[in-house]
Amino acid sequence: MRNFYLIIMLALTLGVISCKEKVQVEEVETVQENVKDQVVVHDEFTGEEPTTPEETEFYEPKVPVVKPGVNGAPPSDAIVLFDGSSLENWISTNDSTAAKWHLNDDGSMTVNDRTGNIQTEQEFGDIQLHIEWKSPLPVQREGQNRGNSGIFLSGLYEVQVLDQNDNPTYVNGQVGSIYKQHVPLAMASVPTGEWNTYDIIYHAPEFNDEGGKIKSGDITVVHNGVLVQDHVEIKGTTEYIGWPKNPAHGKGPLMLQDHGDDSRVSFRNIWLREL
Ligand code: MG
Repeated sequence: MRNFYLIIMLALTLGVISCKEKVQVEEVETVQENVKDQVVVHDEFTGEEPTTPEETEFYEPKVPVVKPGVNGAPPSDAIVLFDGSSLENWISTNDSTAAKWHLNDDGSMTVNDRTGNIQTEQEFGDIQLHIEWKSPLPVQREGQNRGNSGIFLSGLYEVQVLDQNDNPTYVNGQVGSIYKQHVPLAMASVPTGEWNTYDIIYHAPEFNDEGGKIKSGDITVVHNGVLVQDHVEIKGTTEYIGWPKNPAHGKGPLMLQDHGDDSRVSFRNIWLREL
């Protein structure tokens, strides 16, 4: 009798193990199927709740390797627009001839007063932009006429450059503003005569075939390591007078402003990554 119970117990145990193995095999197959299904799209957290860590771990697509720049140098996949050696990537906005700004010995360039804005020959859509700028010494004039320049994304939307130190002006036109659209979260300028950095993330607006805007652009600006624009919506062109306008456009140049009042603003180390 005792042997009979032992045989029954053994048979039951083997049965349970066998069932467990079957369940485990089925689980593995299910995981593999889920992984296959979710290789392309794995940001939709729907369907049955995963029960193993592997179901929510993915190995494709491979992430590109980018070698970061050291000491302010551009990363390995950056498009270098100005490294101090020449103005060859820049043309005059007025007539598309060679840019007429001053190329300096220290690896920078300076606005050549009243020669007009300059812009890249190349055109871009969504970008990550790094640019450095410096307000001139000695200090001259005040308000919007002290070291005014600007960085125009798609050639249309201005991130303001201004010598804001001890120089009040309207806050939606001060340094770090999206001109007349978004007041900056902070005034983060270094002392006049020292180099500032802007790191800008820009997504261009989108338009339909009829020229209607179907998606607004947005801008994030980090000024000397300080967030000053947090993914703000571009309302349209940054007008001096009047409301923002929304002309349809595709890719556009990066444009730098000659404010036309002997601003003497300098720029250096300009590069971007297309997004
Ligand atoms: Mg300006």
